[in-house]
Amino acid sequence: MDAGMHPKLDGRAALPLYSEVEREDLDAIAITHCHHDHVGSVPVAMSYFPKTSVLMTKVSYFLLGRVLHNSVNVMLRQRDEQGIKEYPLYSHDQVEGNETQFQGFKCNRPIEWGALQKARAGLRSPDLEFLDAGHAPGSAGIFLRGKSQTLFYTGDVCFHDQTLLRAAQFGGVQADILIMETTRGDRLAQPGFTRQAEIDRLTEAIQRVLARRGCVLIPAFALGRTQEILALLALLMDAGRIPRQPIYIGGLGRVFTEIHDQKSHLADRQHPDLKLTRDLQLMVLEKEQLQNLKLTGGRLFVLTAGMLTEGTPAHDLALRMMGDERQAILFVGYADPATPGGRLKASKPGEPFVFSAAAGEVTRHCEMHDFNLTAHANREALLDFVGQVSPRTVLLGHGELPARLWFEEQIRARHPKIKIIQPAPGLSVEV
Ligand SMILES: [Zn+2]
Ligand SMILES: [Zn+2]
Repeated sequence: MDAGMHPKLDGRAALPLYSEVEREDLDAIAITHCHHDHVGSVPVAMSYFPKTSVLMTKVSYFLLGRVLHNSVNVMLRQRDEQGIKEYPLYSHDQVEGNETQFQGFKCNRPIEWGALQKARAGLRSPDLEFLDAGHAPGSAGIFLRGKSQTLFYTGDVCFHDQTLLRAAQFGGVQADILIMETTRGDRLAQPGFTRQAEIDRLTEAIQRVLARRGCVLIPAFALGRTQEILALLALLMDAGRIPRQPIYIGGLGRVFTEIHDQKSHLADRQHPDLKLTRDLQLMVLEKEQLQNLKLTGGRLFVLTAGMLTEGTPAHDLALRMMGDERQAILFVGYADPATPGGRLKASKPGEPFVFSAAAGEVTRHCEMHDFNLTAHANREALLDFVGQVSPRTVLLGHGELPARLWFEEQIRARHPKIKIIQPAPGLSVEV
C-alpha cells in the first residue's frame, strides 16, 4: 500500500527500503492518493515487481501518470541545479511503460485482483476496497479483508468538508488492524476555531489587499490545494465579494485543475456544477514572464510550490513581493520550517532573515498571514476514529515523532487493550 518518496530527503535516501521486500511474492500495489509522498516511487517499486498491477481510484487513475511524469522533470531539474547525480530515479519511458499496469476502481466496491493470487494468499472475496478519504482529489483509504482478519489503512484523511471535497466516508469501518496517519497529532485545537471563520479571515485579507491595488500570492500545492483555493475564489467572485479578474496559476496547477473538472462526475464533491477552467479566467504564468509582470493593479496568484521551494515561480514571486508593503503573501497550507515558505512564515516585518540559498538575506515589508485550511483530520477526530474501528493493533505513521507520541499516549489512555506499534524503517512487525 502506497509507494512514495520521503518529502525531506533527496536521492535514493528518499526511497522506501524495497530491497527488504524484493523477495516477497507481491500481487498488487494499491495506492491511496497521488501526492508525491505516497506515489513518488511507484516506478521504482515496479522495477522490483515488474508484473504487478497498481490499483487506485478512478480519479487517481487519471492523475498518477501526470504526477510521475512531473516527478521526472523535477528530478532532472534537481540533478542539473543541485547536482544530485542519482536523479532521475526513473525516466519518462519507464512511466509510460508502467501506465499500462495502472487500474482505476470505484470507491465502495470490493475489488478482486486475481483468483490465482487470492487462492495462494488464502484470501476470500471480496478482498480490497477503496473508501473516499476526503483529503485530495481521488484520495481513499484501503480496506483489506483476509481469510480471518481485516486491515484498514487511512492514507491521508480529512474528516471535515473542504470547499470542493466532502469529508471522508469511513463511517462503519471496523478492522483488526489499523494503519493510521498522525499528521496533526502535535497541533492543539484552537478554542473557537472554525473553518468558516478562517475562510472569512482569508476573504477579508484578499479584499483588503485588492482594494489598495496590491497583489495577492497564495502558495499552493498543484494537486488538491490549488483546486480548493480556485473553487473558493470562484464562489467569492460569484457572490460579488471580490472583483471578477484573471487568476495566475502554474502550468501543473492548470493540468490538475483541468483533470479535476473533467472527472468531477467520478467524485462525490460539493458544487458539482462548478467548472474551474470554464468559470474562472485562469492564466498560466511561465517563469520567464514573471520577471516582466508589473505587480500593480491588484493581481491574484495561486502558484506552486506550497512551501516556496527554490527555483519555482512562487519562490521568485514571493521574493519580488517581499519588500513592498502593498503586497500580501497568504499561506493556506503547511510549510516545513526548513523551507523558504517556513522561514517566511516565521519572519517578522522589518527584520532581515535568510529566505533561501539563492535569495540570501531579505527583509519582509509585505503583509503575510497563515490560514488553517488543512486537508488532514484534526487529532481529536482521528482519535474518535480509532474508537470506531476498534482494532486489536494500531500502526502509527505519516507524522513527526511528537505527533505519533501524542497518539500513542492518548490511545493507551482511552483503549488500554489496543497494541500500538510505531513502525521503524527496515524492521518487520508482527500484527
Ligand atoms: Zn496527501
Ligand atoms: Zn501524505
